[in-house]
Amino acid sequence: MEDFNAANEIQDLQYFGEFGGVNPSISDSSTYTFLSAKTMFDTFEGNAEGCYLYSRHSSPMNLYLAQALAKLENTEAANVTASGMGAITSVLLQICKSGDHIISSRTIYGGTYAFLKNFLPPFNIDTTFLDINNIEAIENAIKPNTKVIYCESVSNPLLEVADLRKLSEICKKHNLKLIVDNTFSPLSISPTLLGADIVIHSLTKFINGSSDTVGGVYCGSQEFINDTKNVNNGACMLLGPTMDSFRSASILKNLRTLHIRMKQHSYNAQYLAERFEHDGLKVSYPGLPSHKNHELMKSMMHEEYGFGGLMTLDAGTTDKANELMELMQQENLGYLAVSLGFYKTLFSCSGSSTSSEIPEEERMAMGISDGLIRFSIGLDHDIERTYQKMKECMVKTGVLHYENTSIY
Ligand SMILES: *Cc1c(COP(=O)(O)O)cnc(C)c1O
Repeated sequence: MEDFNAANEIQDLQYFGEFGGVNPSISDSSTYTFLSAKTMFDTFEGNAEGCYLYSRHSSPMNLYLAQALAKLENTEAANVTASGMGAITSVLLQICKSGDHIISSRTIYGGTYAFLKNFLPPFNIDTTFLDINNIEAIENAIKPNTKVIYCESVSNPLLEVADLRKLSEICKKHNLKLIVDNTFSPLSISPTLLGADIVIHSLTKFINGSSDTVGGVYCGSQEFINDTKNVNNGACMLLGPTMDSFRSASILKNLRTLHIRMKQHSYNAQYLAERFEHDGLKVSYPGLPSHKNHELMKSMMHEEYGFGGLMTLDAGTTDKANELMELMQQENLGYLAVSLGFYKTLFSCSGSSTSSEIPEEERMAMGISDGLIRFSIGLDHDIERTYQKMKECMVKTGVLHYENTSIY
């Protein structure tokens, strides 16, 4: 595991533009010509290496970006999609057919949860949602028709860490596919090194990092990627969540700095989590020894990238959370917005935003309290300055009590 260094792999990928440009040329075409009709036929059959047919299937820039993301996740191949949900739905519909069963972590992205819970059952694909840390319950839930264990390496929004080594052992034993959404921990966790079969990202978040587009990718074996792109029965080819070439070009350029950004996001989040925990706030961050999965994450991660840019803080009630977030936005500490991985801090109240698809009762059972604020910590240059300003907001709103702090 220590020998693999995704940042080096990405750095070494060299793509020249058509005229010697230092960035690859964007192919501004939806369709491609063939000098011979025979080659067109072979391309349709999937037998003509290096030939392009139609951009829903492949385009040069999408292949460049996919190749770079396959390097990131140490897989043979990858395919980019128009959004993270485009990747998740394509992968699940490729693997699972009517009559199949999925085991999923119960703490997952709200859209994925809604897809598994509401969208798939009418297609006769059912999901059992479980606590991903309860390995025994997961093994007991496996049925003859189970095809997949699905989880997020670091979950949204509770930042629970899945034990990918143990899950992959179960998958190998029962011939299941382990599908891991690694959106929260690019570079720091490499799921395939721990036994995952397919790794998914919402590129919208850290990988693109500039909150200007949605995008997705799934990384896996060449055979699996080809299957999803098959013109007759490939889920991605037929559902059509195709990324535009201009977008893949800009995402590829942003990917080039991911390693630097992740270190700064993690450094800043660790800094704030430690300070606010010390101030007596209810903070959850996998980099804190008090986090229940701290040791597990340590055993799974590439340490140089830290524990990631996400942390949560419980403000008590939704009203308090809203008051605090509005004040922090007014003080220019960040934006009251969903999503993550931006240069500026983003915060949102999970229960009433990105996890609102999950019924309240289930949210409570999971530990998503009403006042839970999820922070995606930005790339702030001077994080002590940020800490002081945030603390003032917390004191002003009464989230942090006067006597607990040393600023006055
Ligand atoms: C945002 C997100 C998704 C969905 O990605 P989109 O690009 O918004 O479609 C899936 N999984 C996780 C963990 C996410 O944060």
